[in-house]
Amino acid sequence: MQLAKTIVIKPTMNCNLRCGYCYEFIRNGTTYCKDTMSIDQLTGIVWRTAKIFPDSKILWMFHGGEPLLQGAAYLEKFADCIREVNKEYPVDYKIALQTNATLLTDECIRILEKNADLLSERIVSISIDGPQRINDMTRYSVEGKSPFKEIEAAIQRVKNSELVFSTISVVGTHNVKCAKEVFEYMKDLGANLCKFVPNYNSDSNGNAEMYGIRPMEFAEFMCEIFDLWMHDLPNQTKETQMIIDPIASIICTLSKSVVTWCEYREEKCSNFTCIYPNGEMWLCDNFIHESMKETAYVKNIYEVSDEELKTILLTPNRVCKFDEFFSKAMGKCSDCEIYEHCKGGCLPTHNEMLKKSKSLYEDYCGAKKLLIHHIKRGVDLALS
Ligand code: SF4
Ligand code: SF4
Repeated sequence: MQLAKTIVIKPTMNCNLRCGYCYEFIRNGTTYCKDTMSIDQLTGIVWRTAKIFPDSKILWMFHGGEPLLQGAAYLEKFADCIREVNKEYPVDYKIALQTNATLLTDECIRILEKNADLLSERIVSISIDGPQRINDMTRYSVEGKSPFKEIEAAIQRVKNSELVFSTISVVGTHNVKCAKEVFEYMKDLGANLCKFVPNYNSDSNGNAEMYGIRPMEFAEFMCEIFDLWMHDLPNQTKETQMIIDPIASIICTLSKSVVTWCEYREEKCSNFTCIYPNGEMWLCDNFIHESMKETAYVKNIYEVSDEELKTILLTPNRVCKFDEFFSKAMGKCSDCEIYEHCKGGCLPTHNEMLKKSKSLYEDYCGAKKLLIHHIKRGVDLALS
């Protein structure tokens, strides 16, 4: 049976940073799951999946917490396992890495370079929110120190290697008014893809907290980034060209090309699986554990038979109440004028806003409209 999907593996939920907007530690003082996944457990999951789906195509996303806390030898054994499974079965397995880069040592780079053929296009995805002045406001170590020098040194090591990297930047109060500064910095950094994700942290009444911003602020930030990017386009060569998300995803929806970012796709969380260190499977780590267990918790991989796991990996949405949640959450989108391009956004985020405050939800939709119309106008103008 065919299976094509991304499986997010979280070998640990621990992290050596304590970013000011991360709920994981700030609110709870501890992580959601304190276990770690041993390398035997991880490779066991990969082999088991290949045995159940001998012709599957899976991107194994090495994620956390900070996955490199497991050490370089762990990473190497994981890559070796993927290579062996690819030889043993007619599967097509690839790996990707999401890291804060502070532990991206020469040894890790050597391992990744050695396995470059196994790495998906956006191989090393590095979290960074802008230049040091900005990054230091929210991203600091457990001891409260700046990790910036380590991050920049790791990026330099990646640039000196055969690897390419992408960046993921959280947009919050610390950088939302600094679009130009962030854009210029990212341009100089030279990532092949820069992804901006909004920080919508808010309390139960929808009031922003922990560096959280309103959706409209994010839309205005992205409109400015789009204008800067358009203005800079004539200077960009094939080598220096920047792809920026969500701009690229929106342009893909306008030109009816394939969109990779789930927020802008019809098919969202329903075929996603995220495996926690203790074996818990959730549709995605964006679901809130305390309030969304019924909606998105699937089962524990160590407690299900192969037959059950087969059904879970094929249709995780049917093992929990996701489909019900989906119809309810998307109800308001069905006659929206921009649905074709927005596709409802990230469902748990969108749903939380609806639950917390009507004005916040209206702001969410208003922001989507502002950004999509702005990009459409810019693209139309450029093509005319
Ligand atoms: S929860 Fe959000 S980020 Fe996760 S798969 Fe669904 S839409 Fe995508
Ligand atoms: S703007 Fe709002 S209502 Fe319209 S498709 Fe997006 S999330 Fe749904």
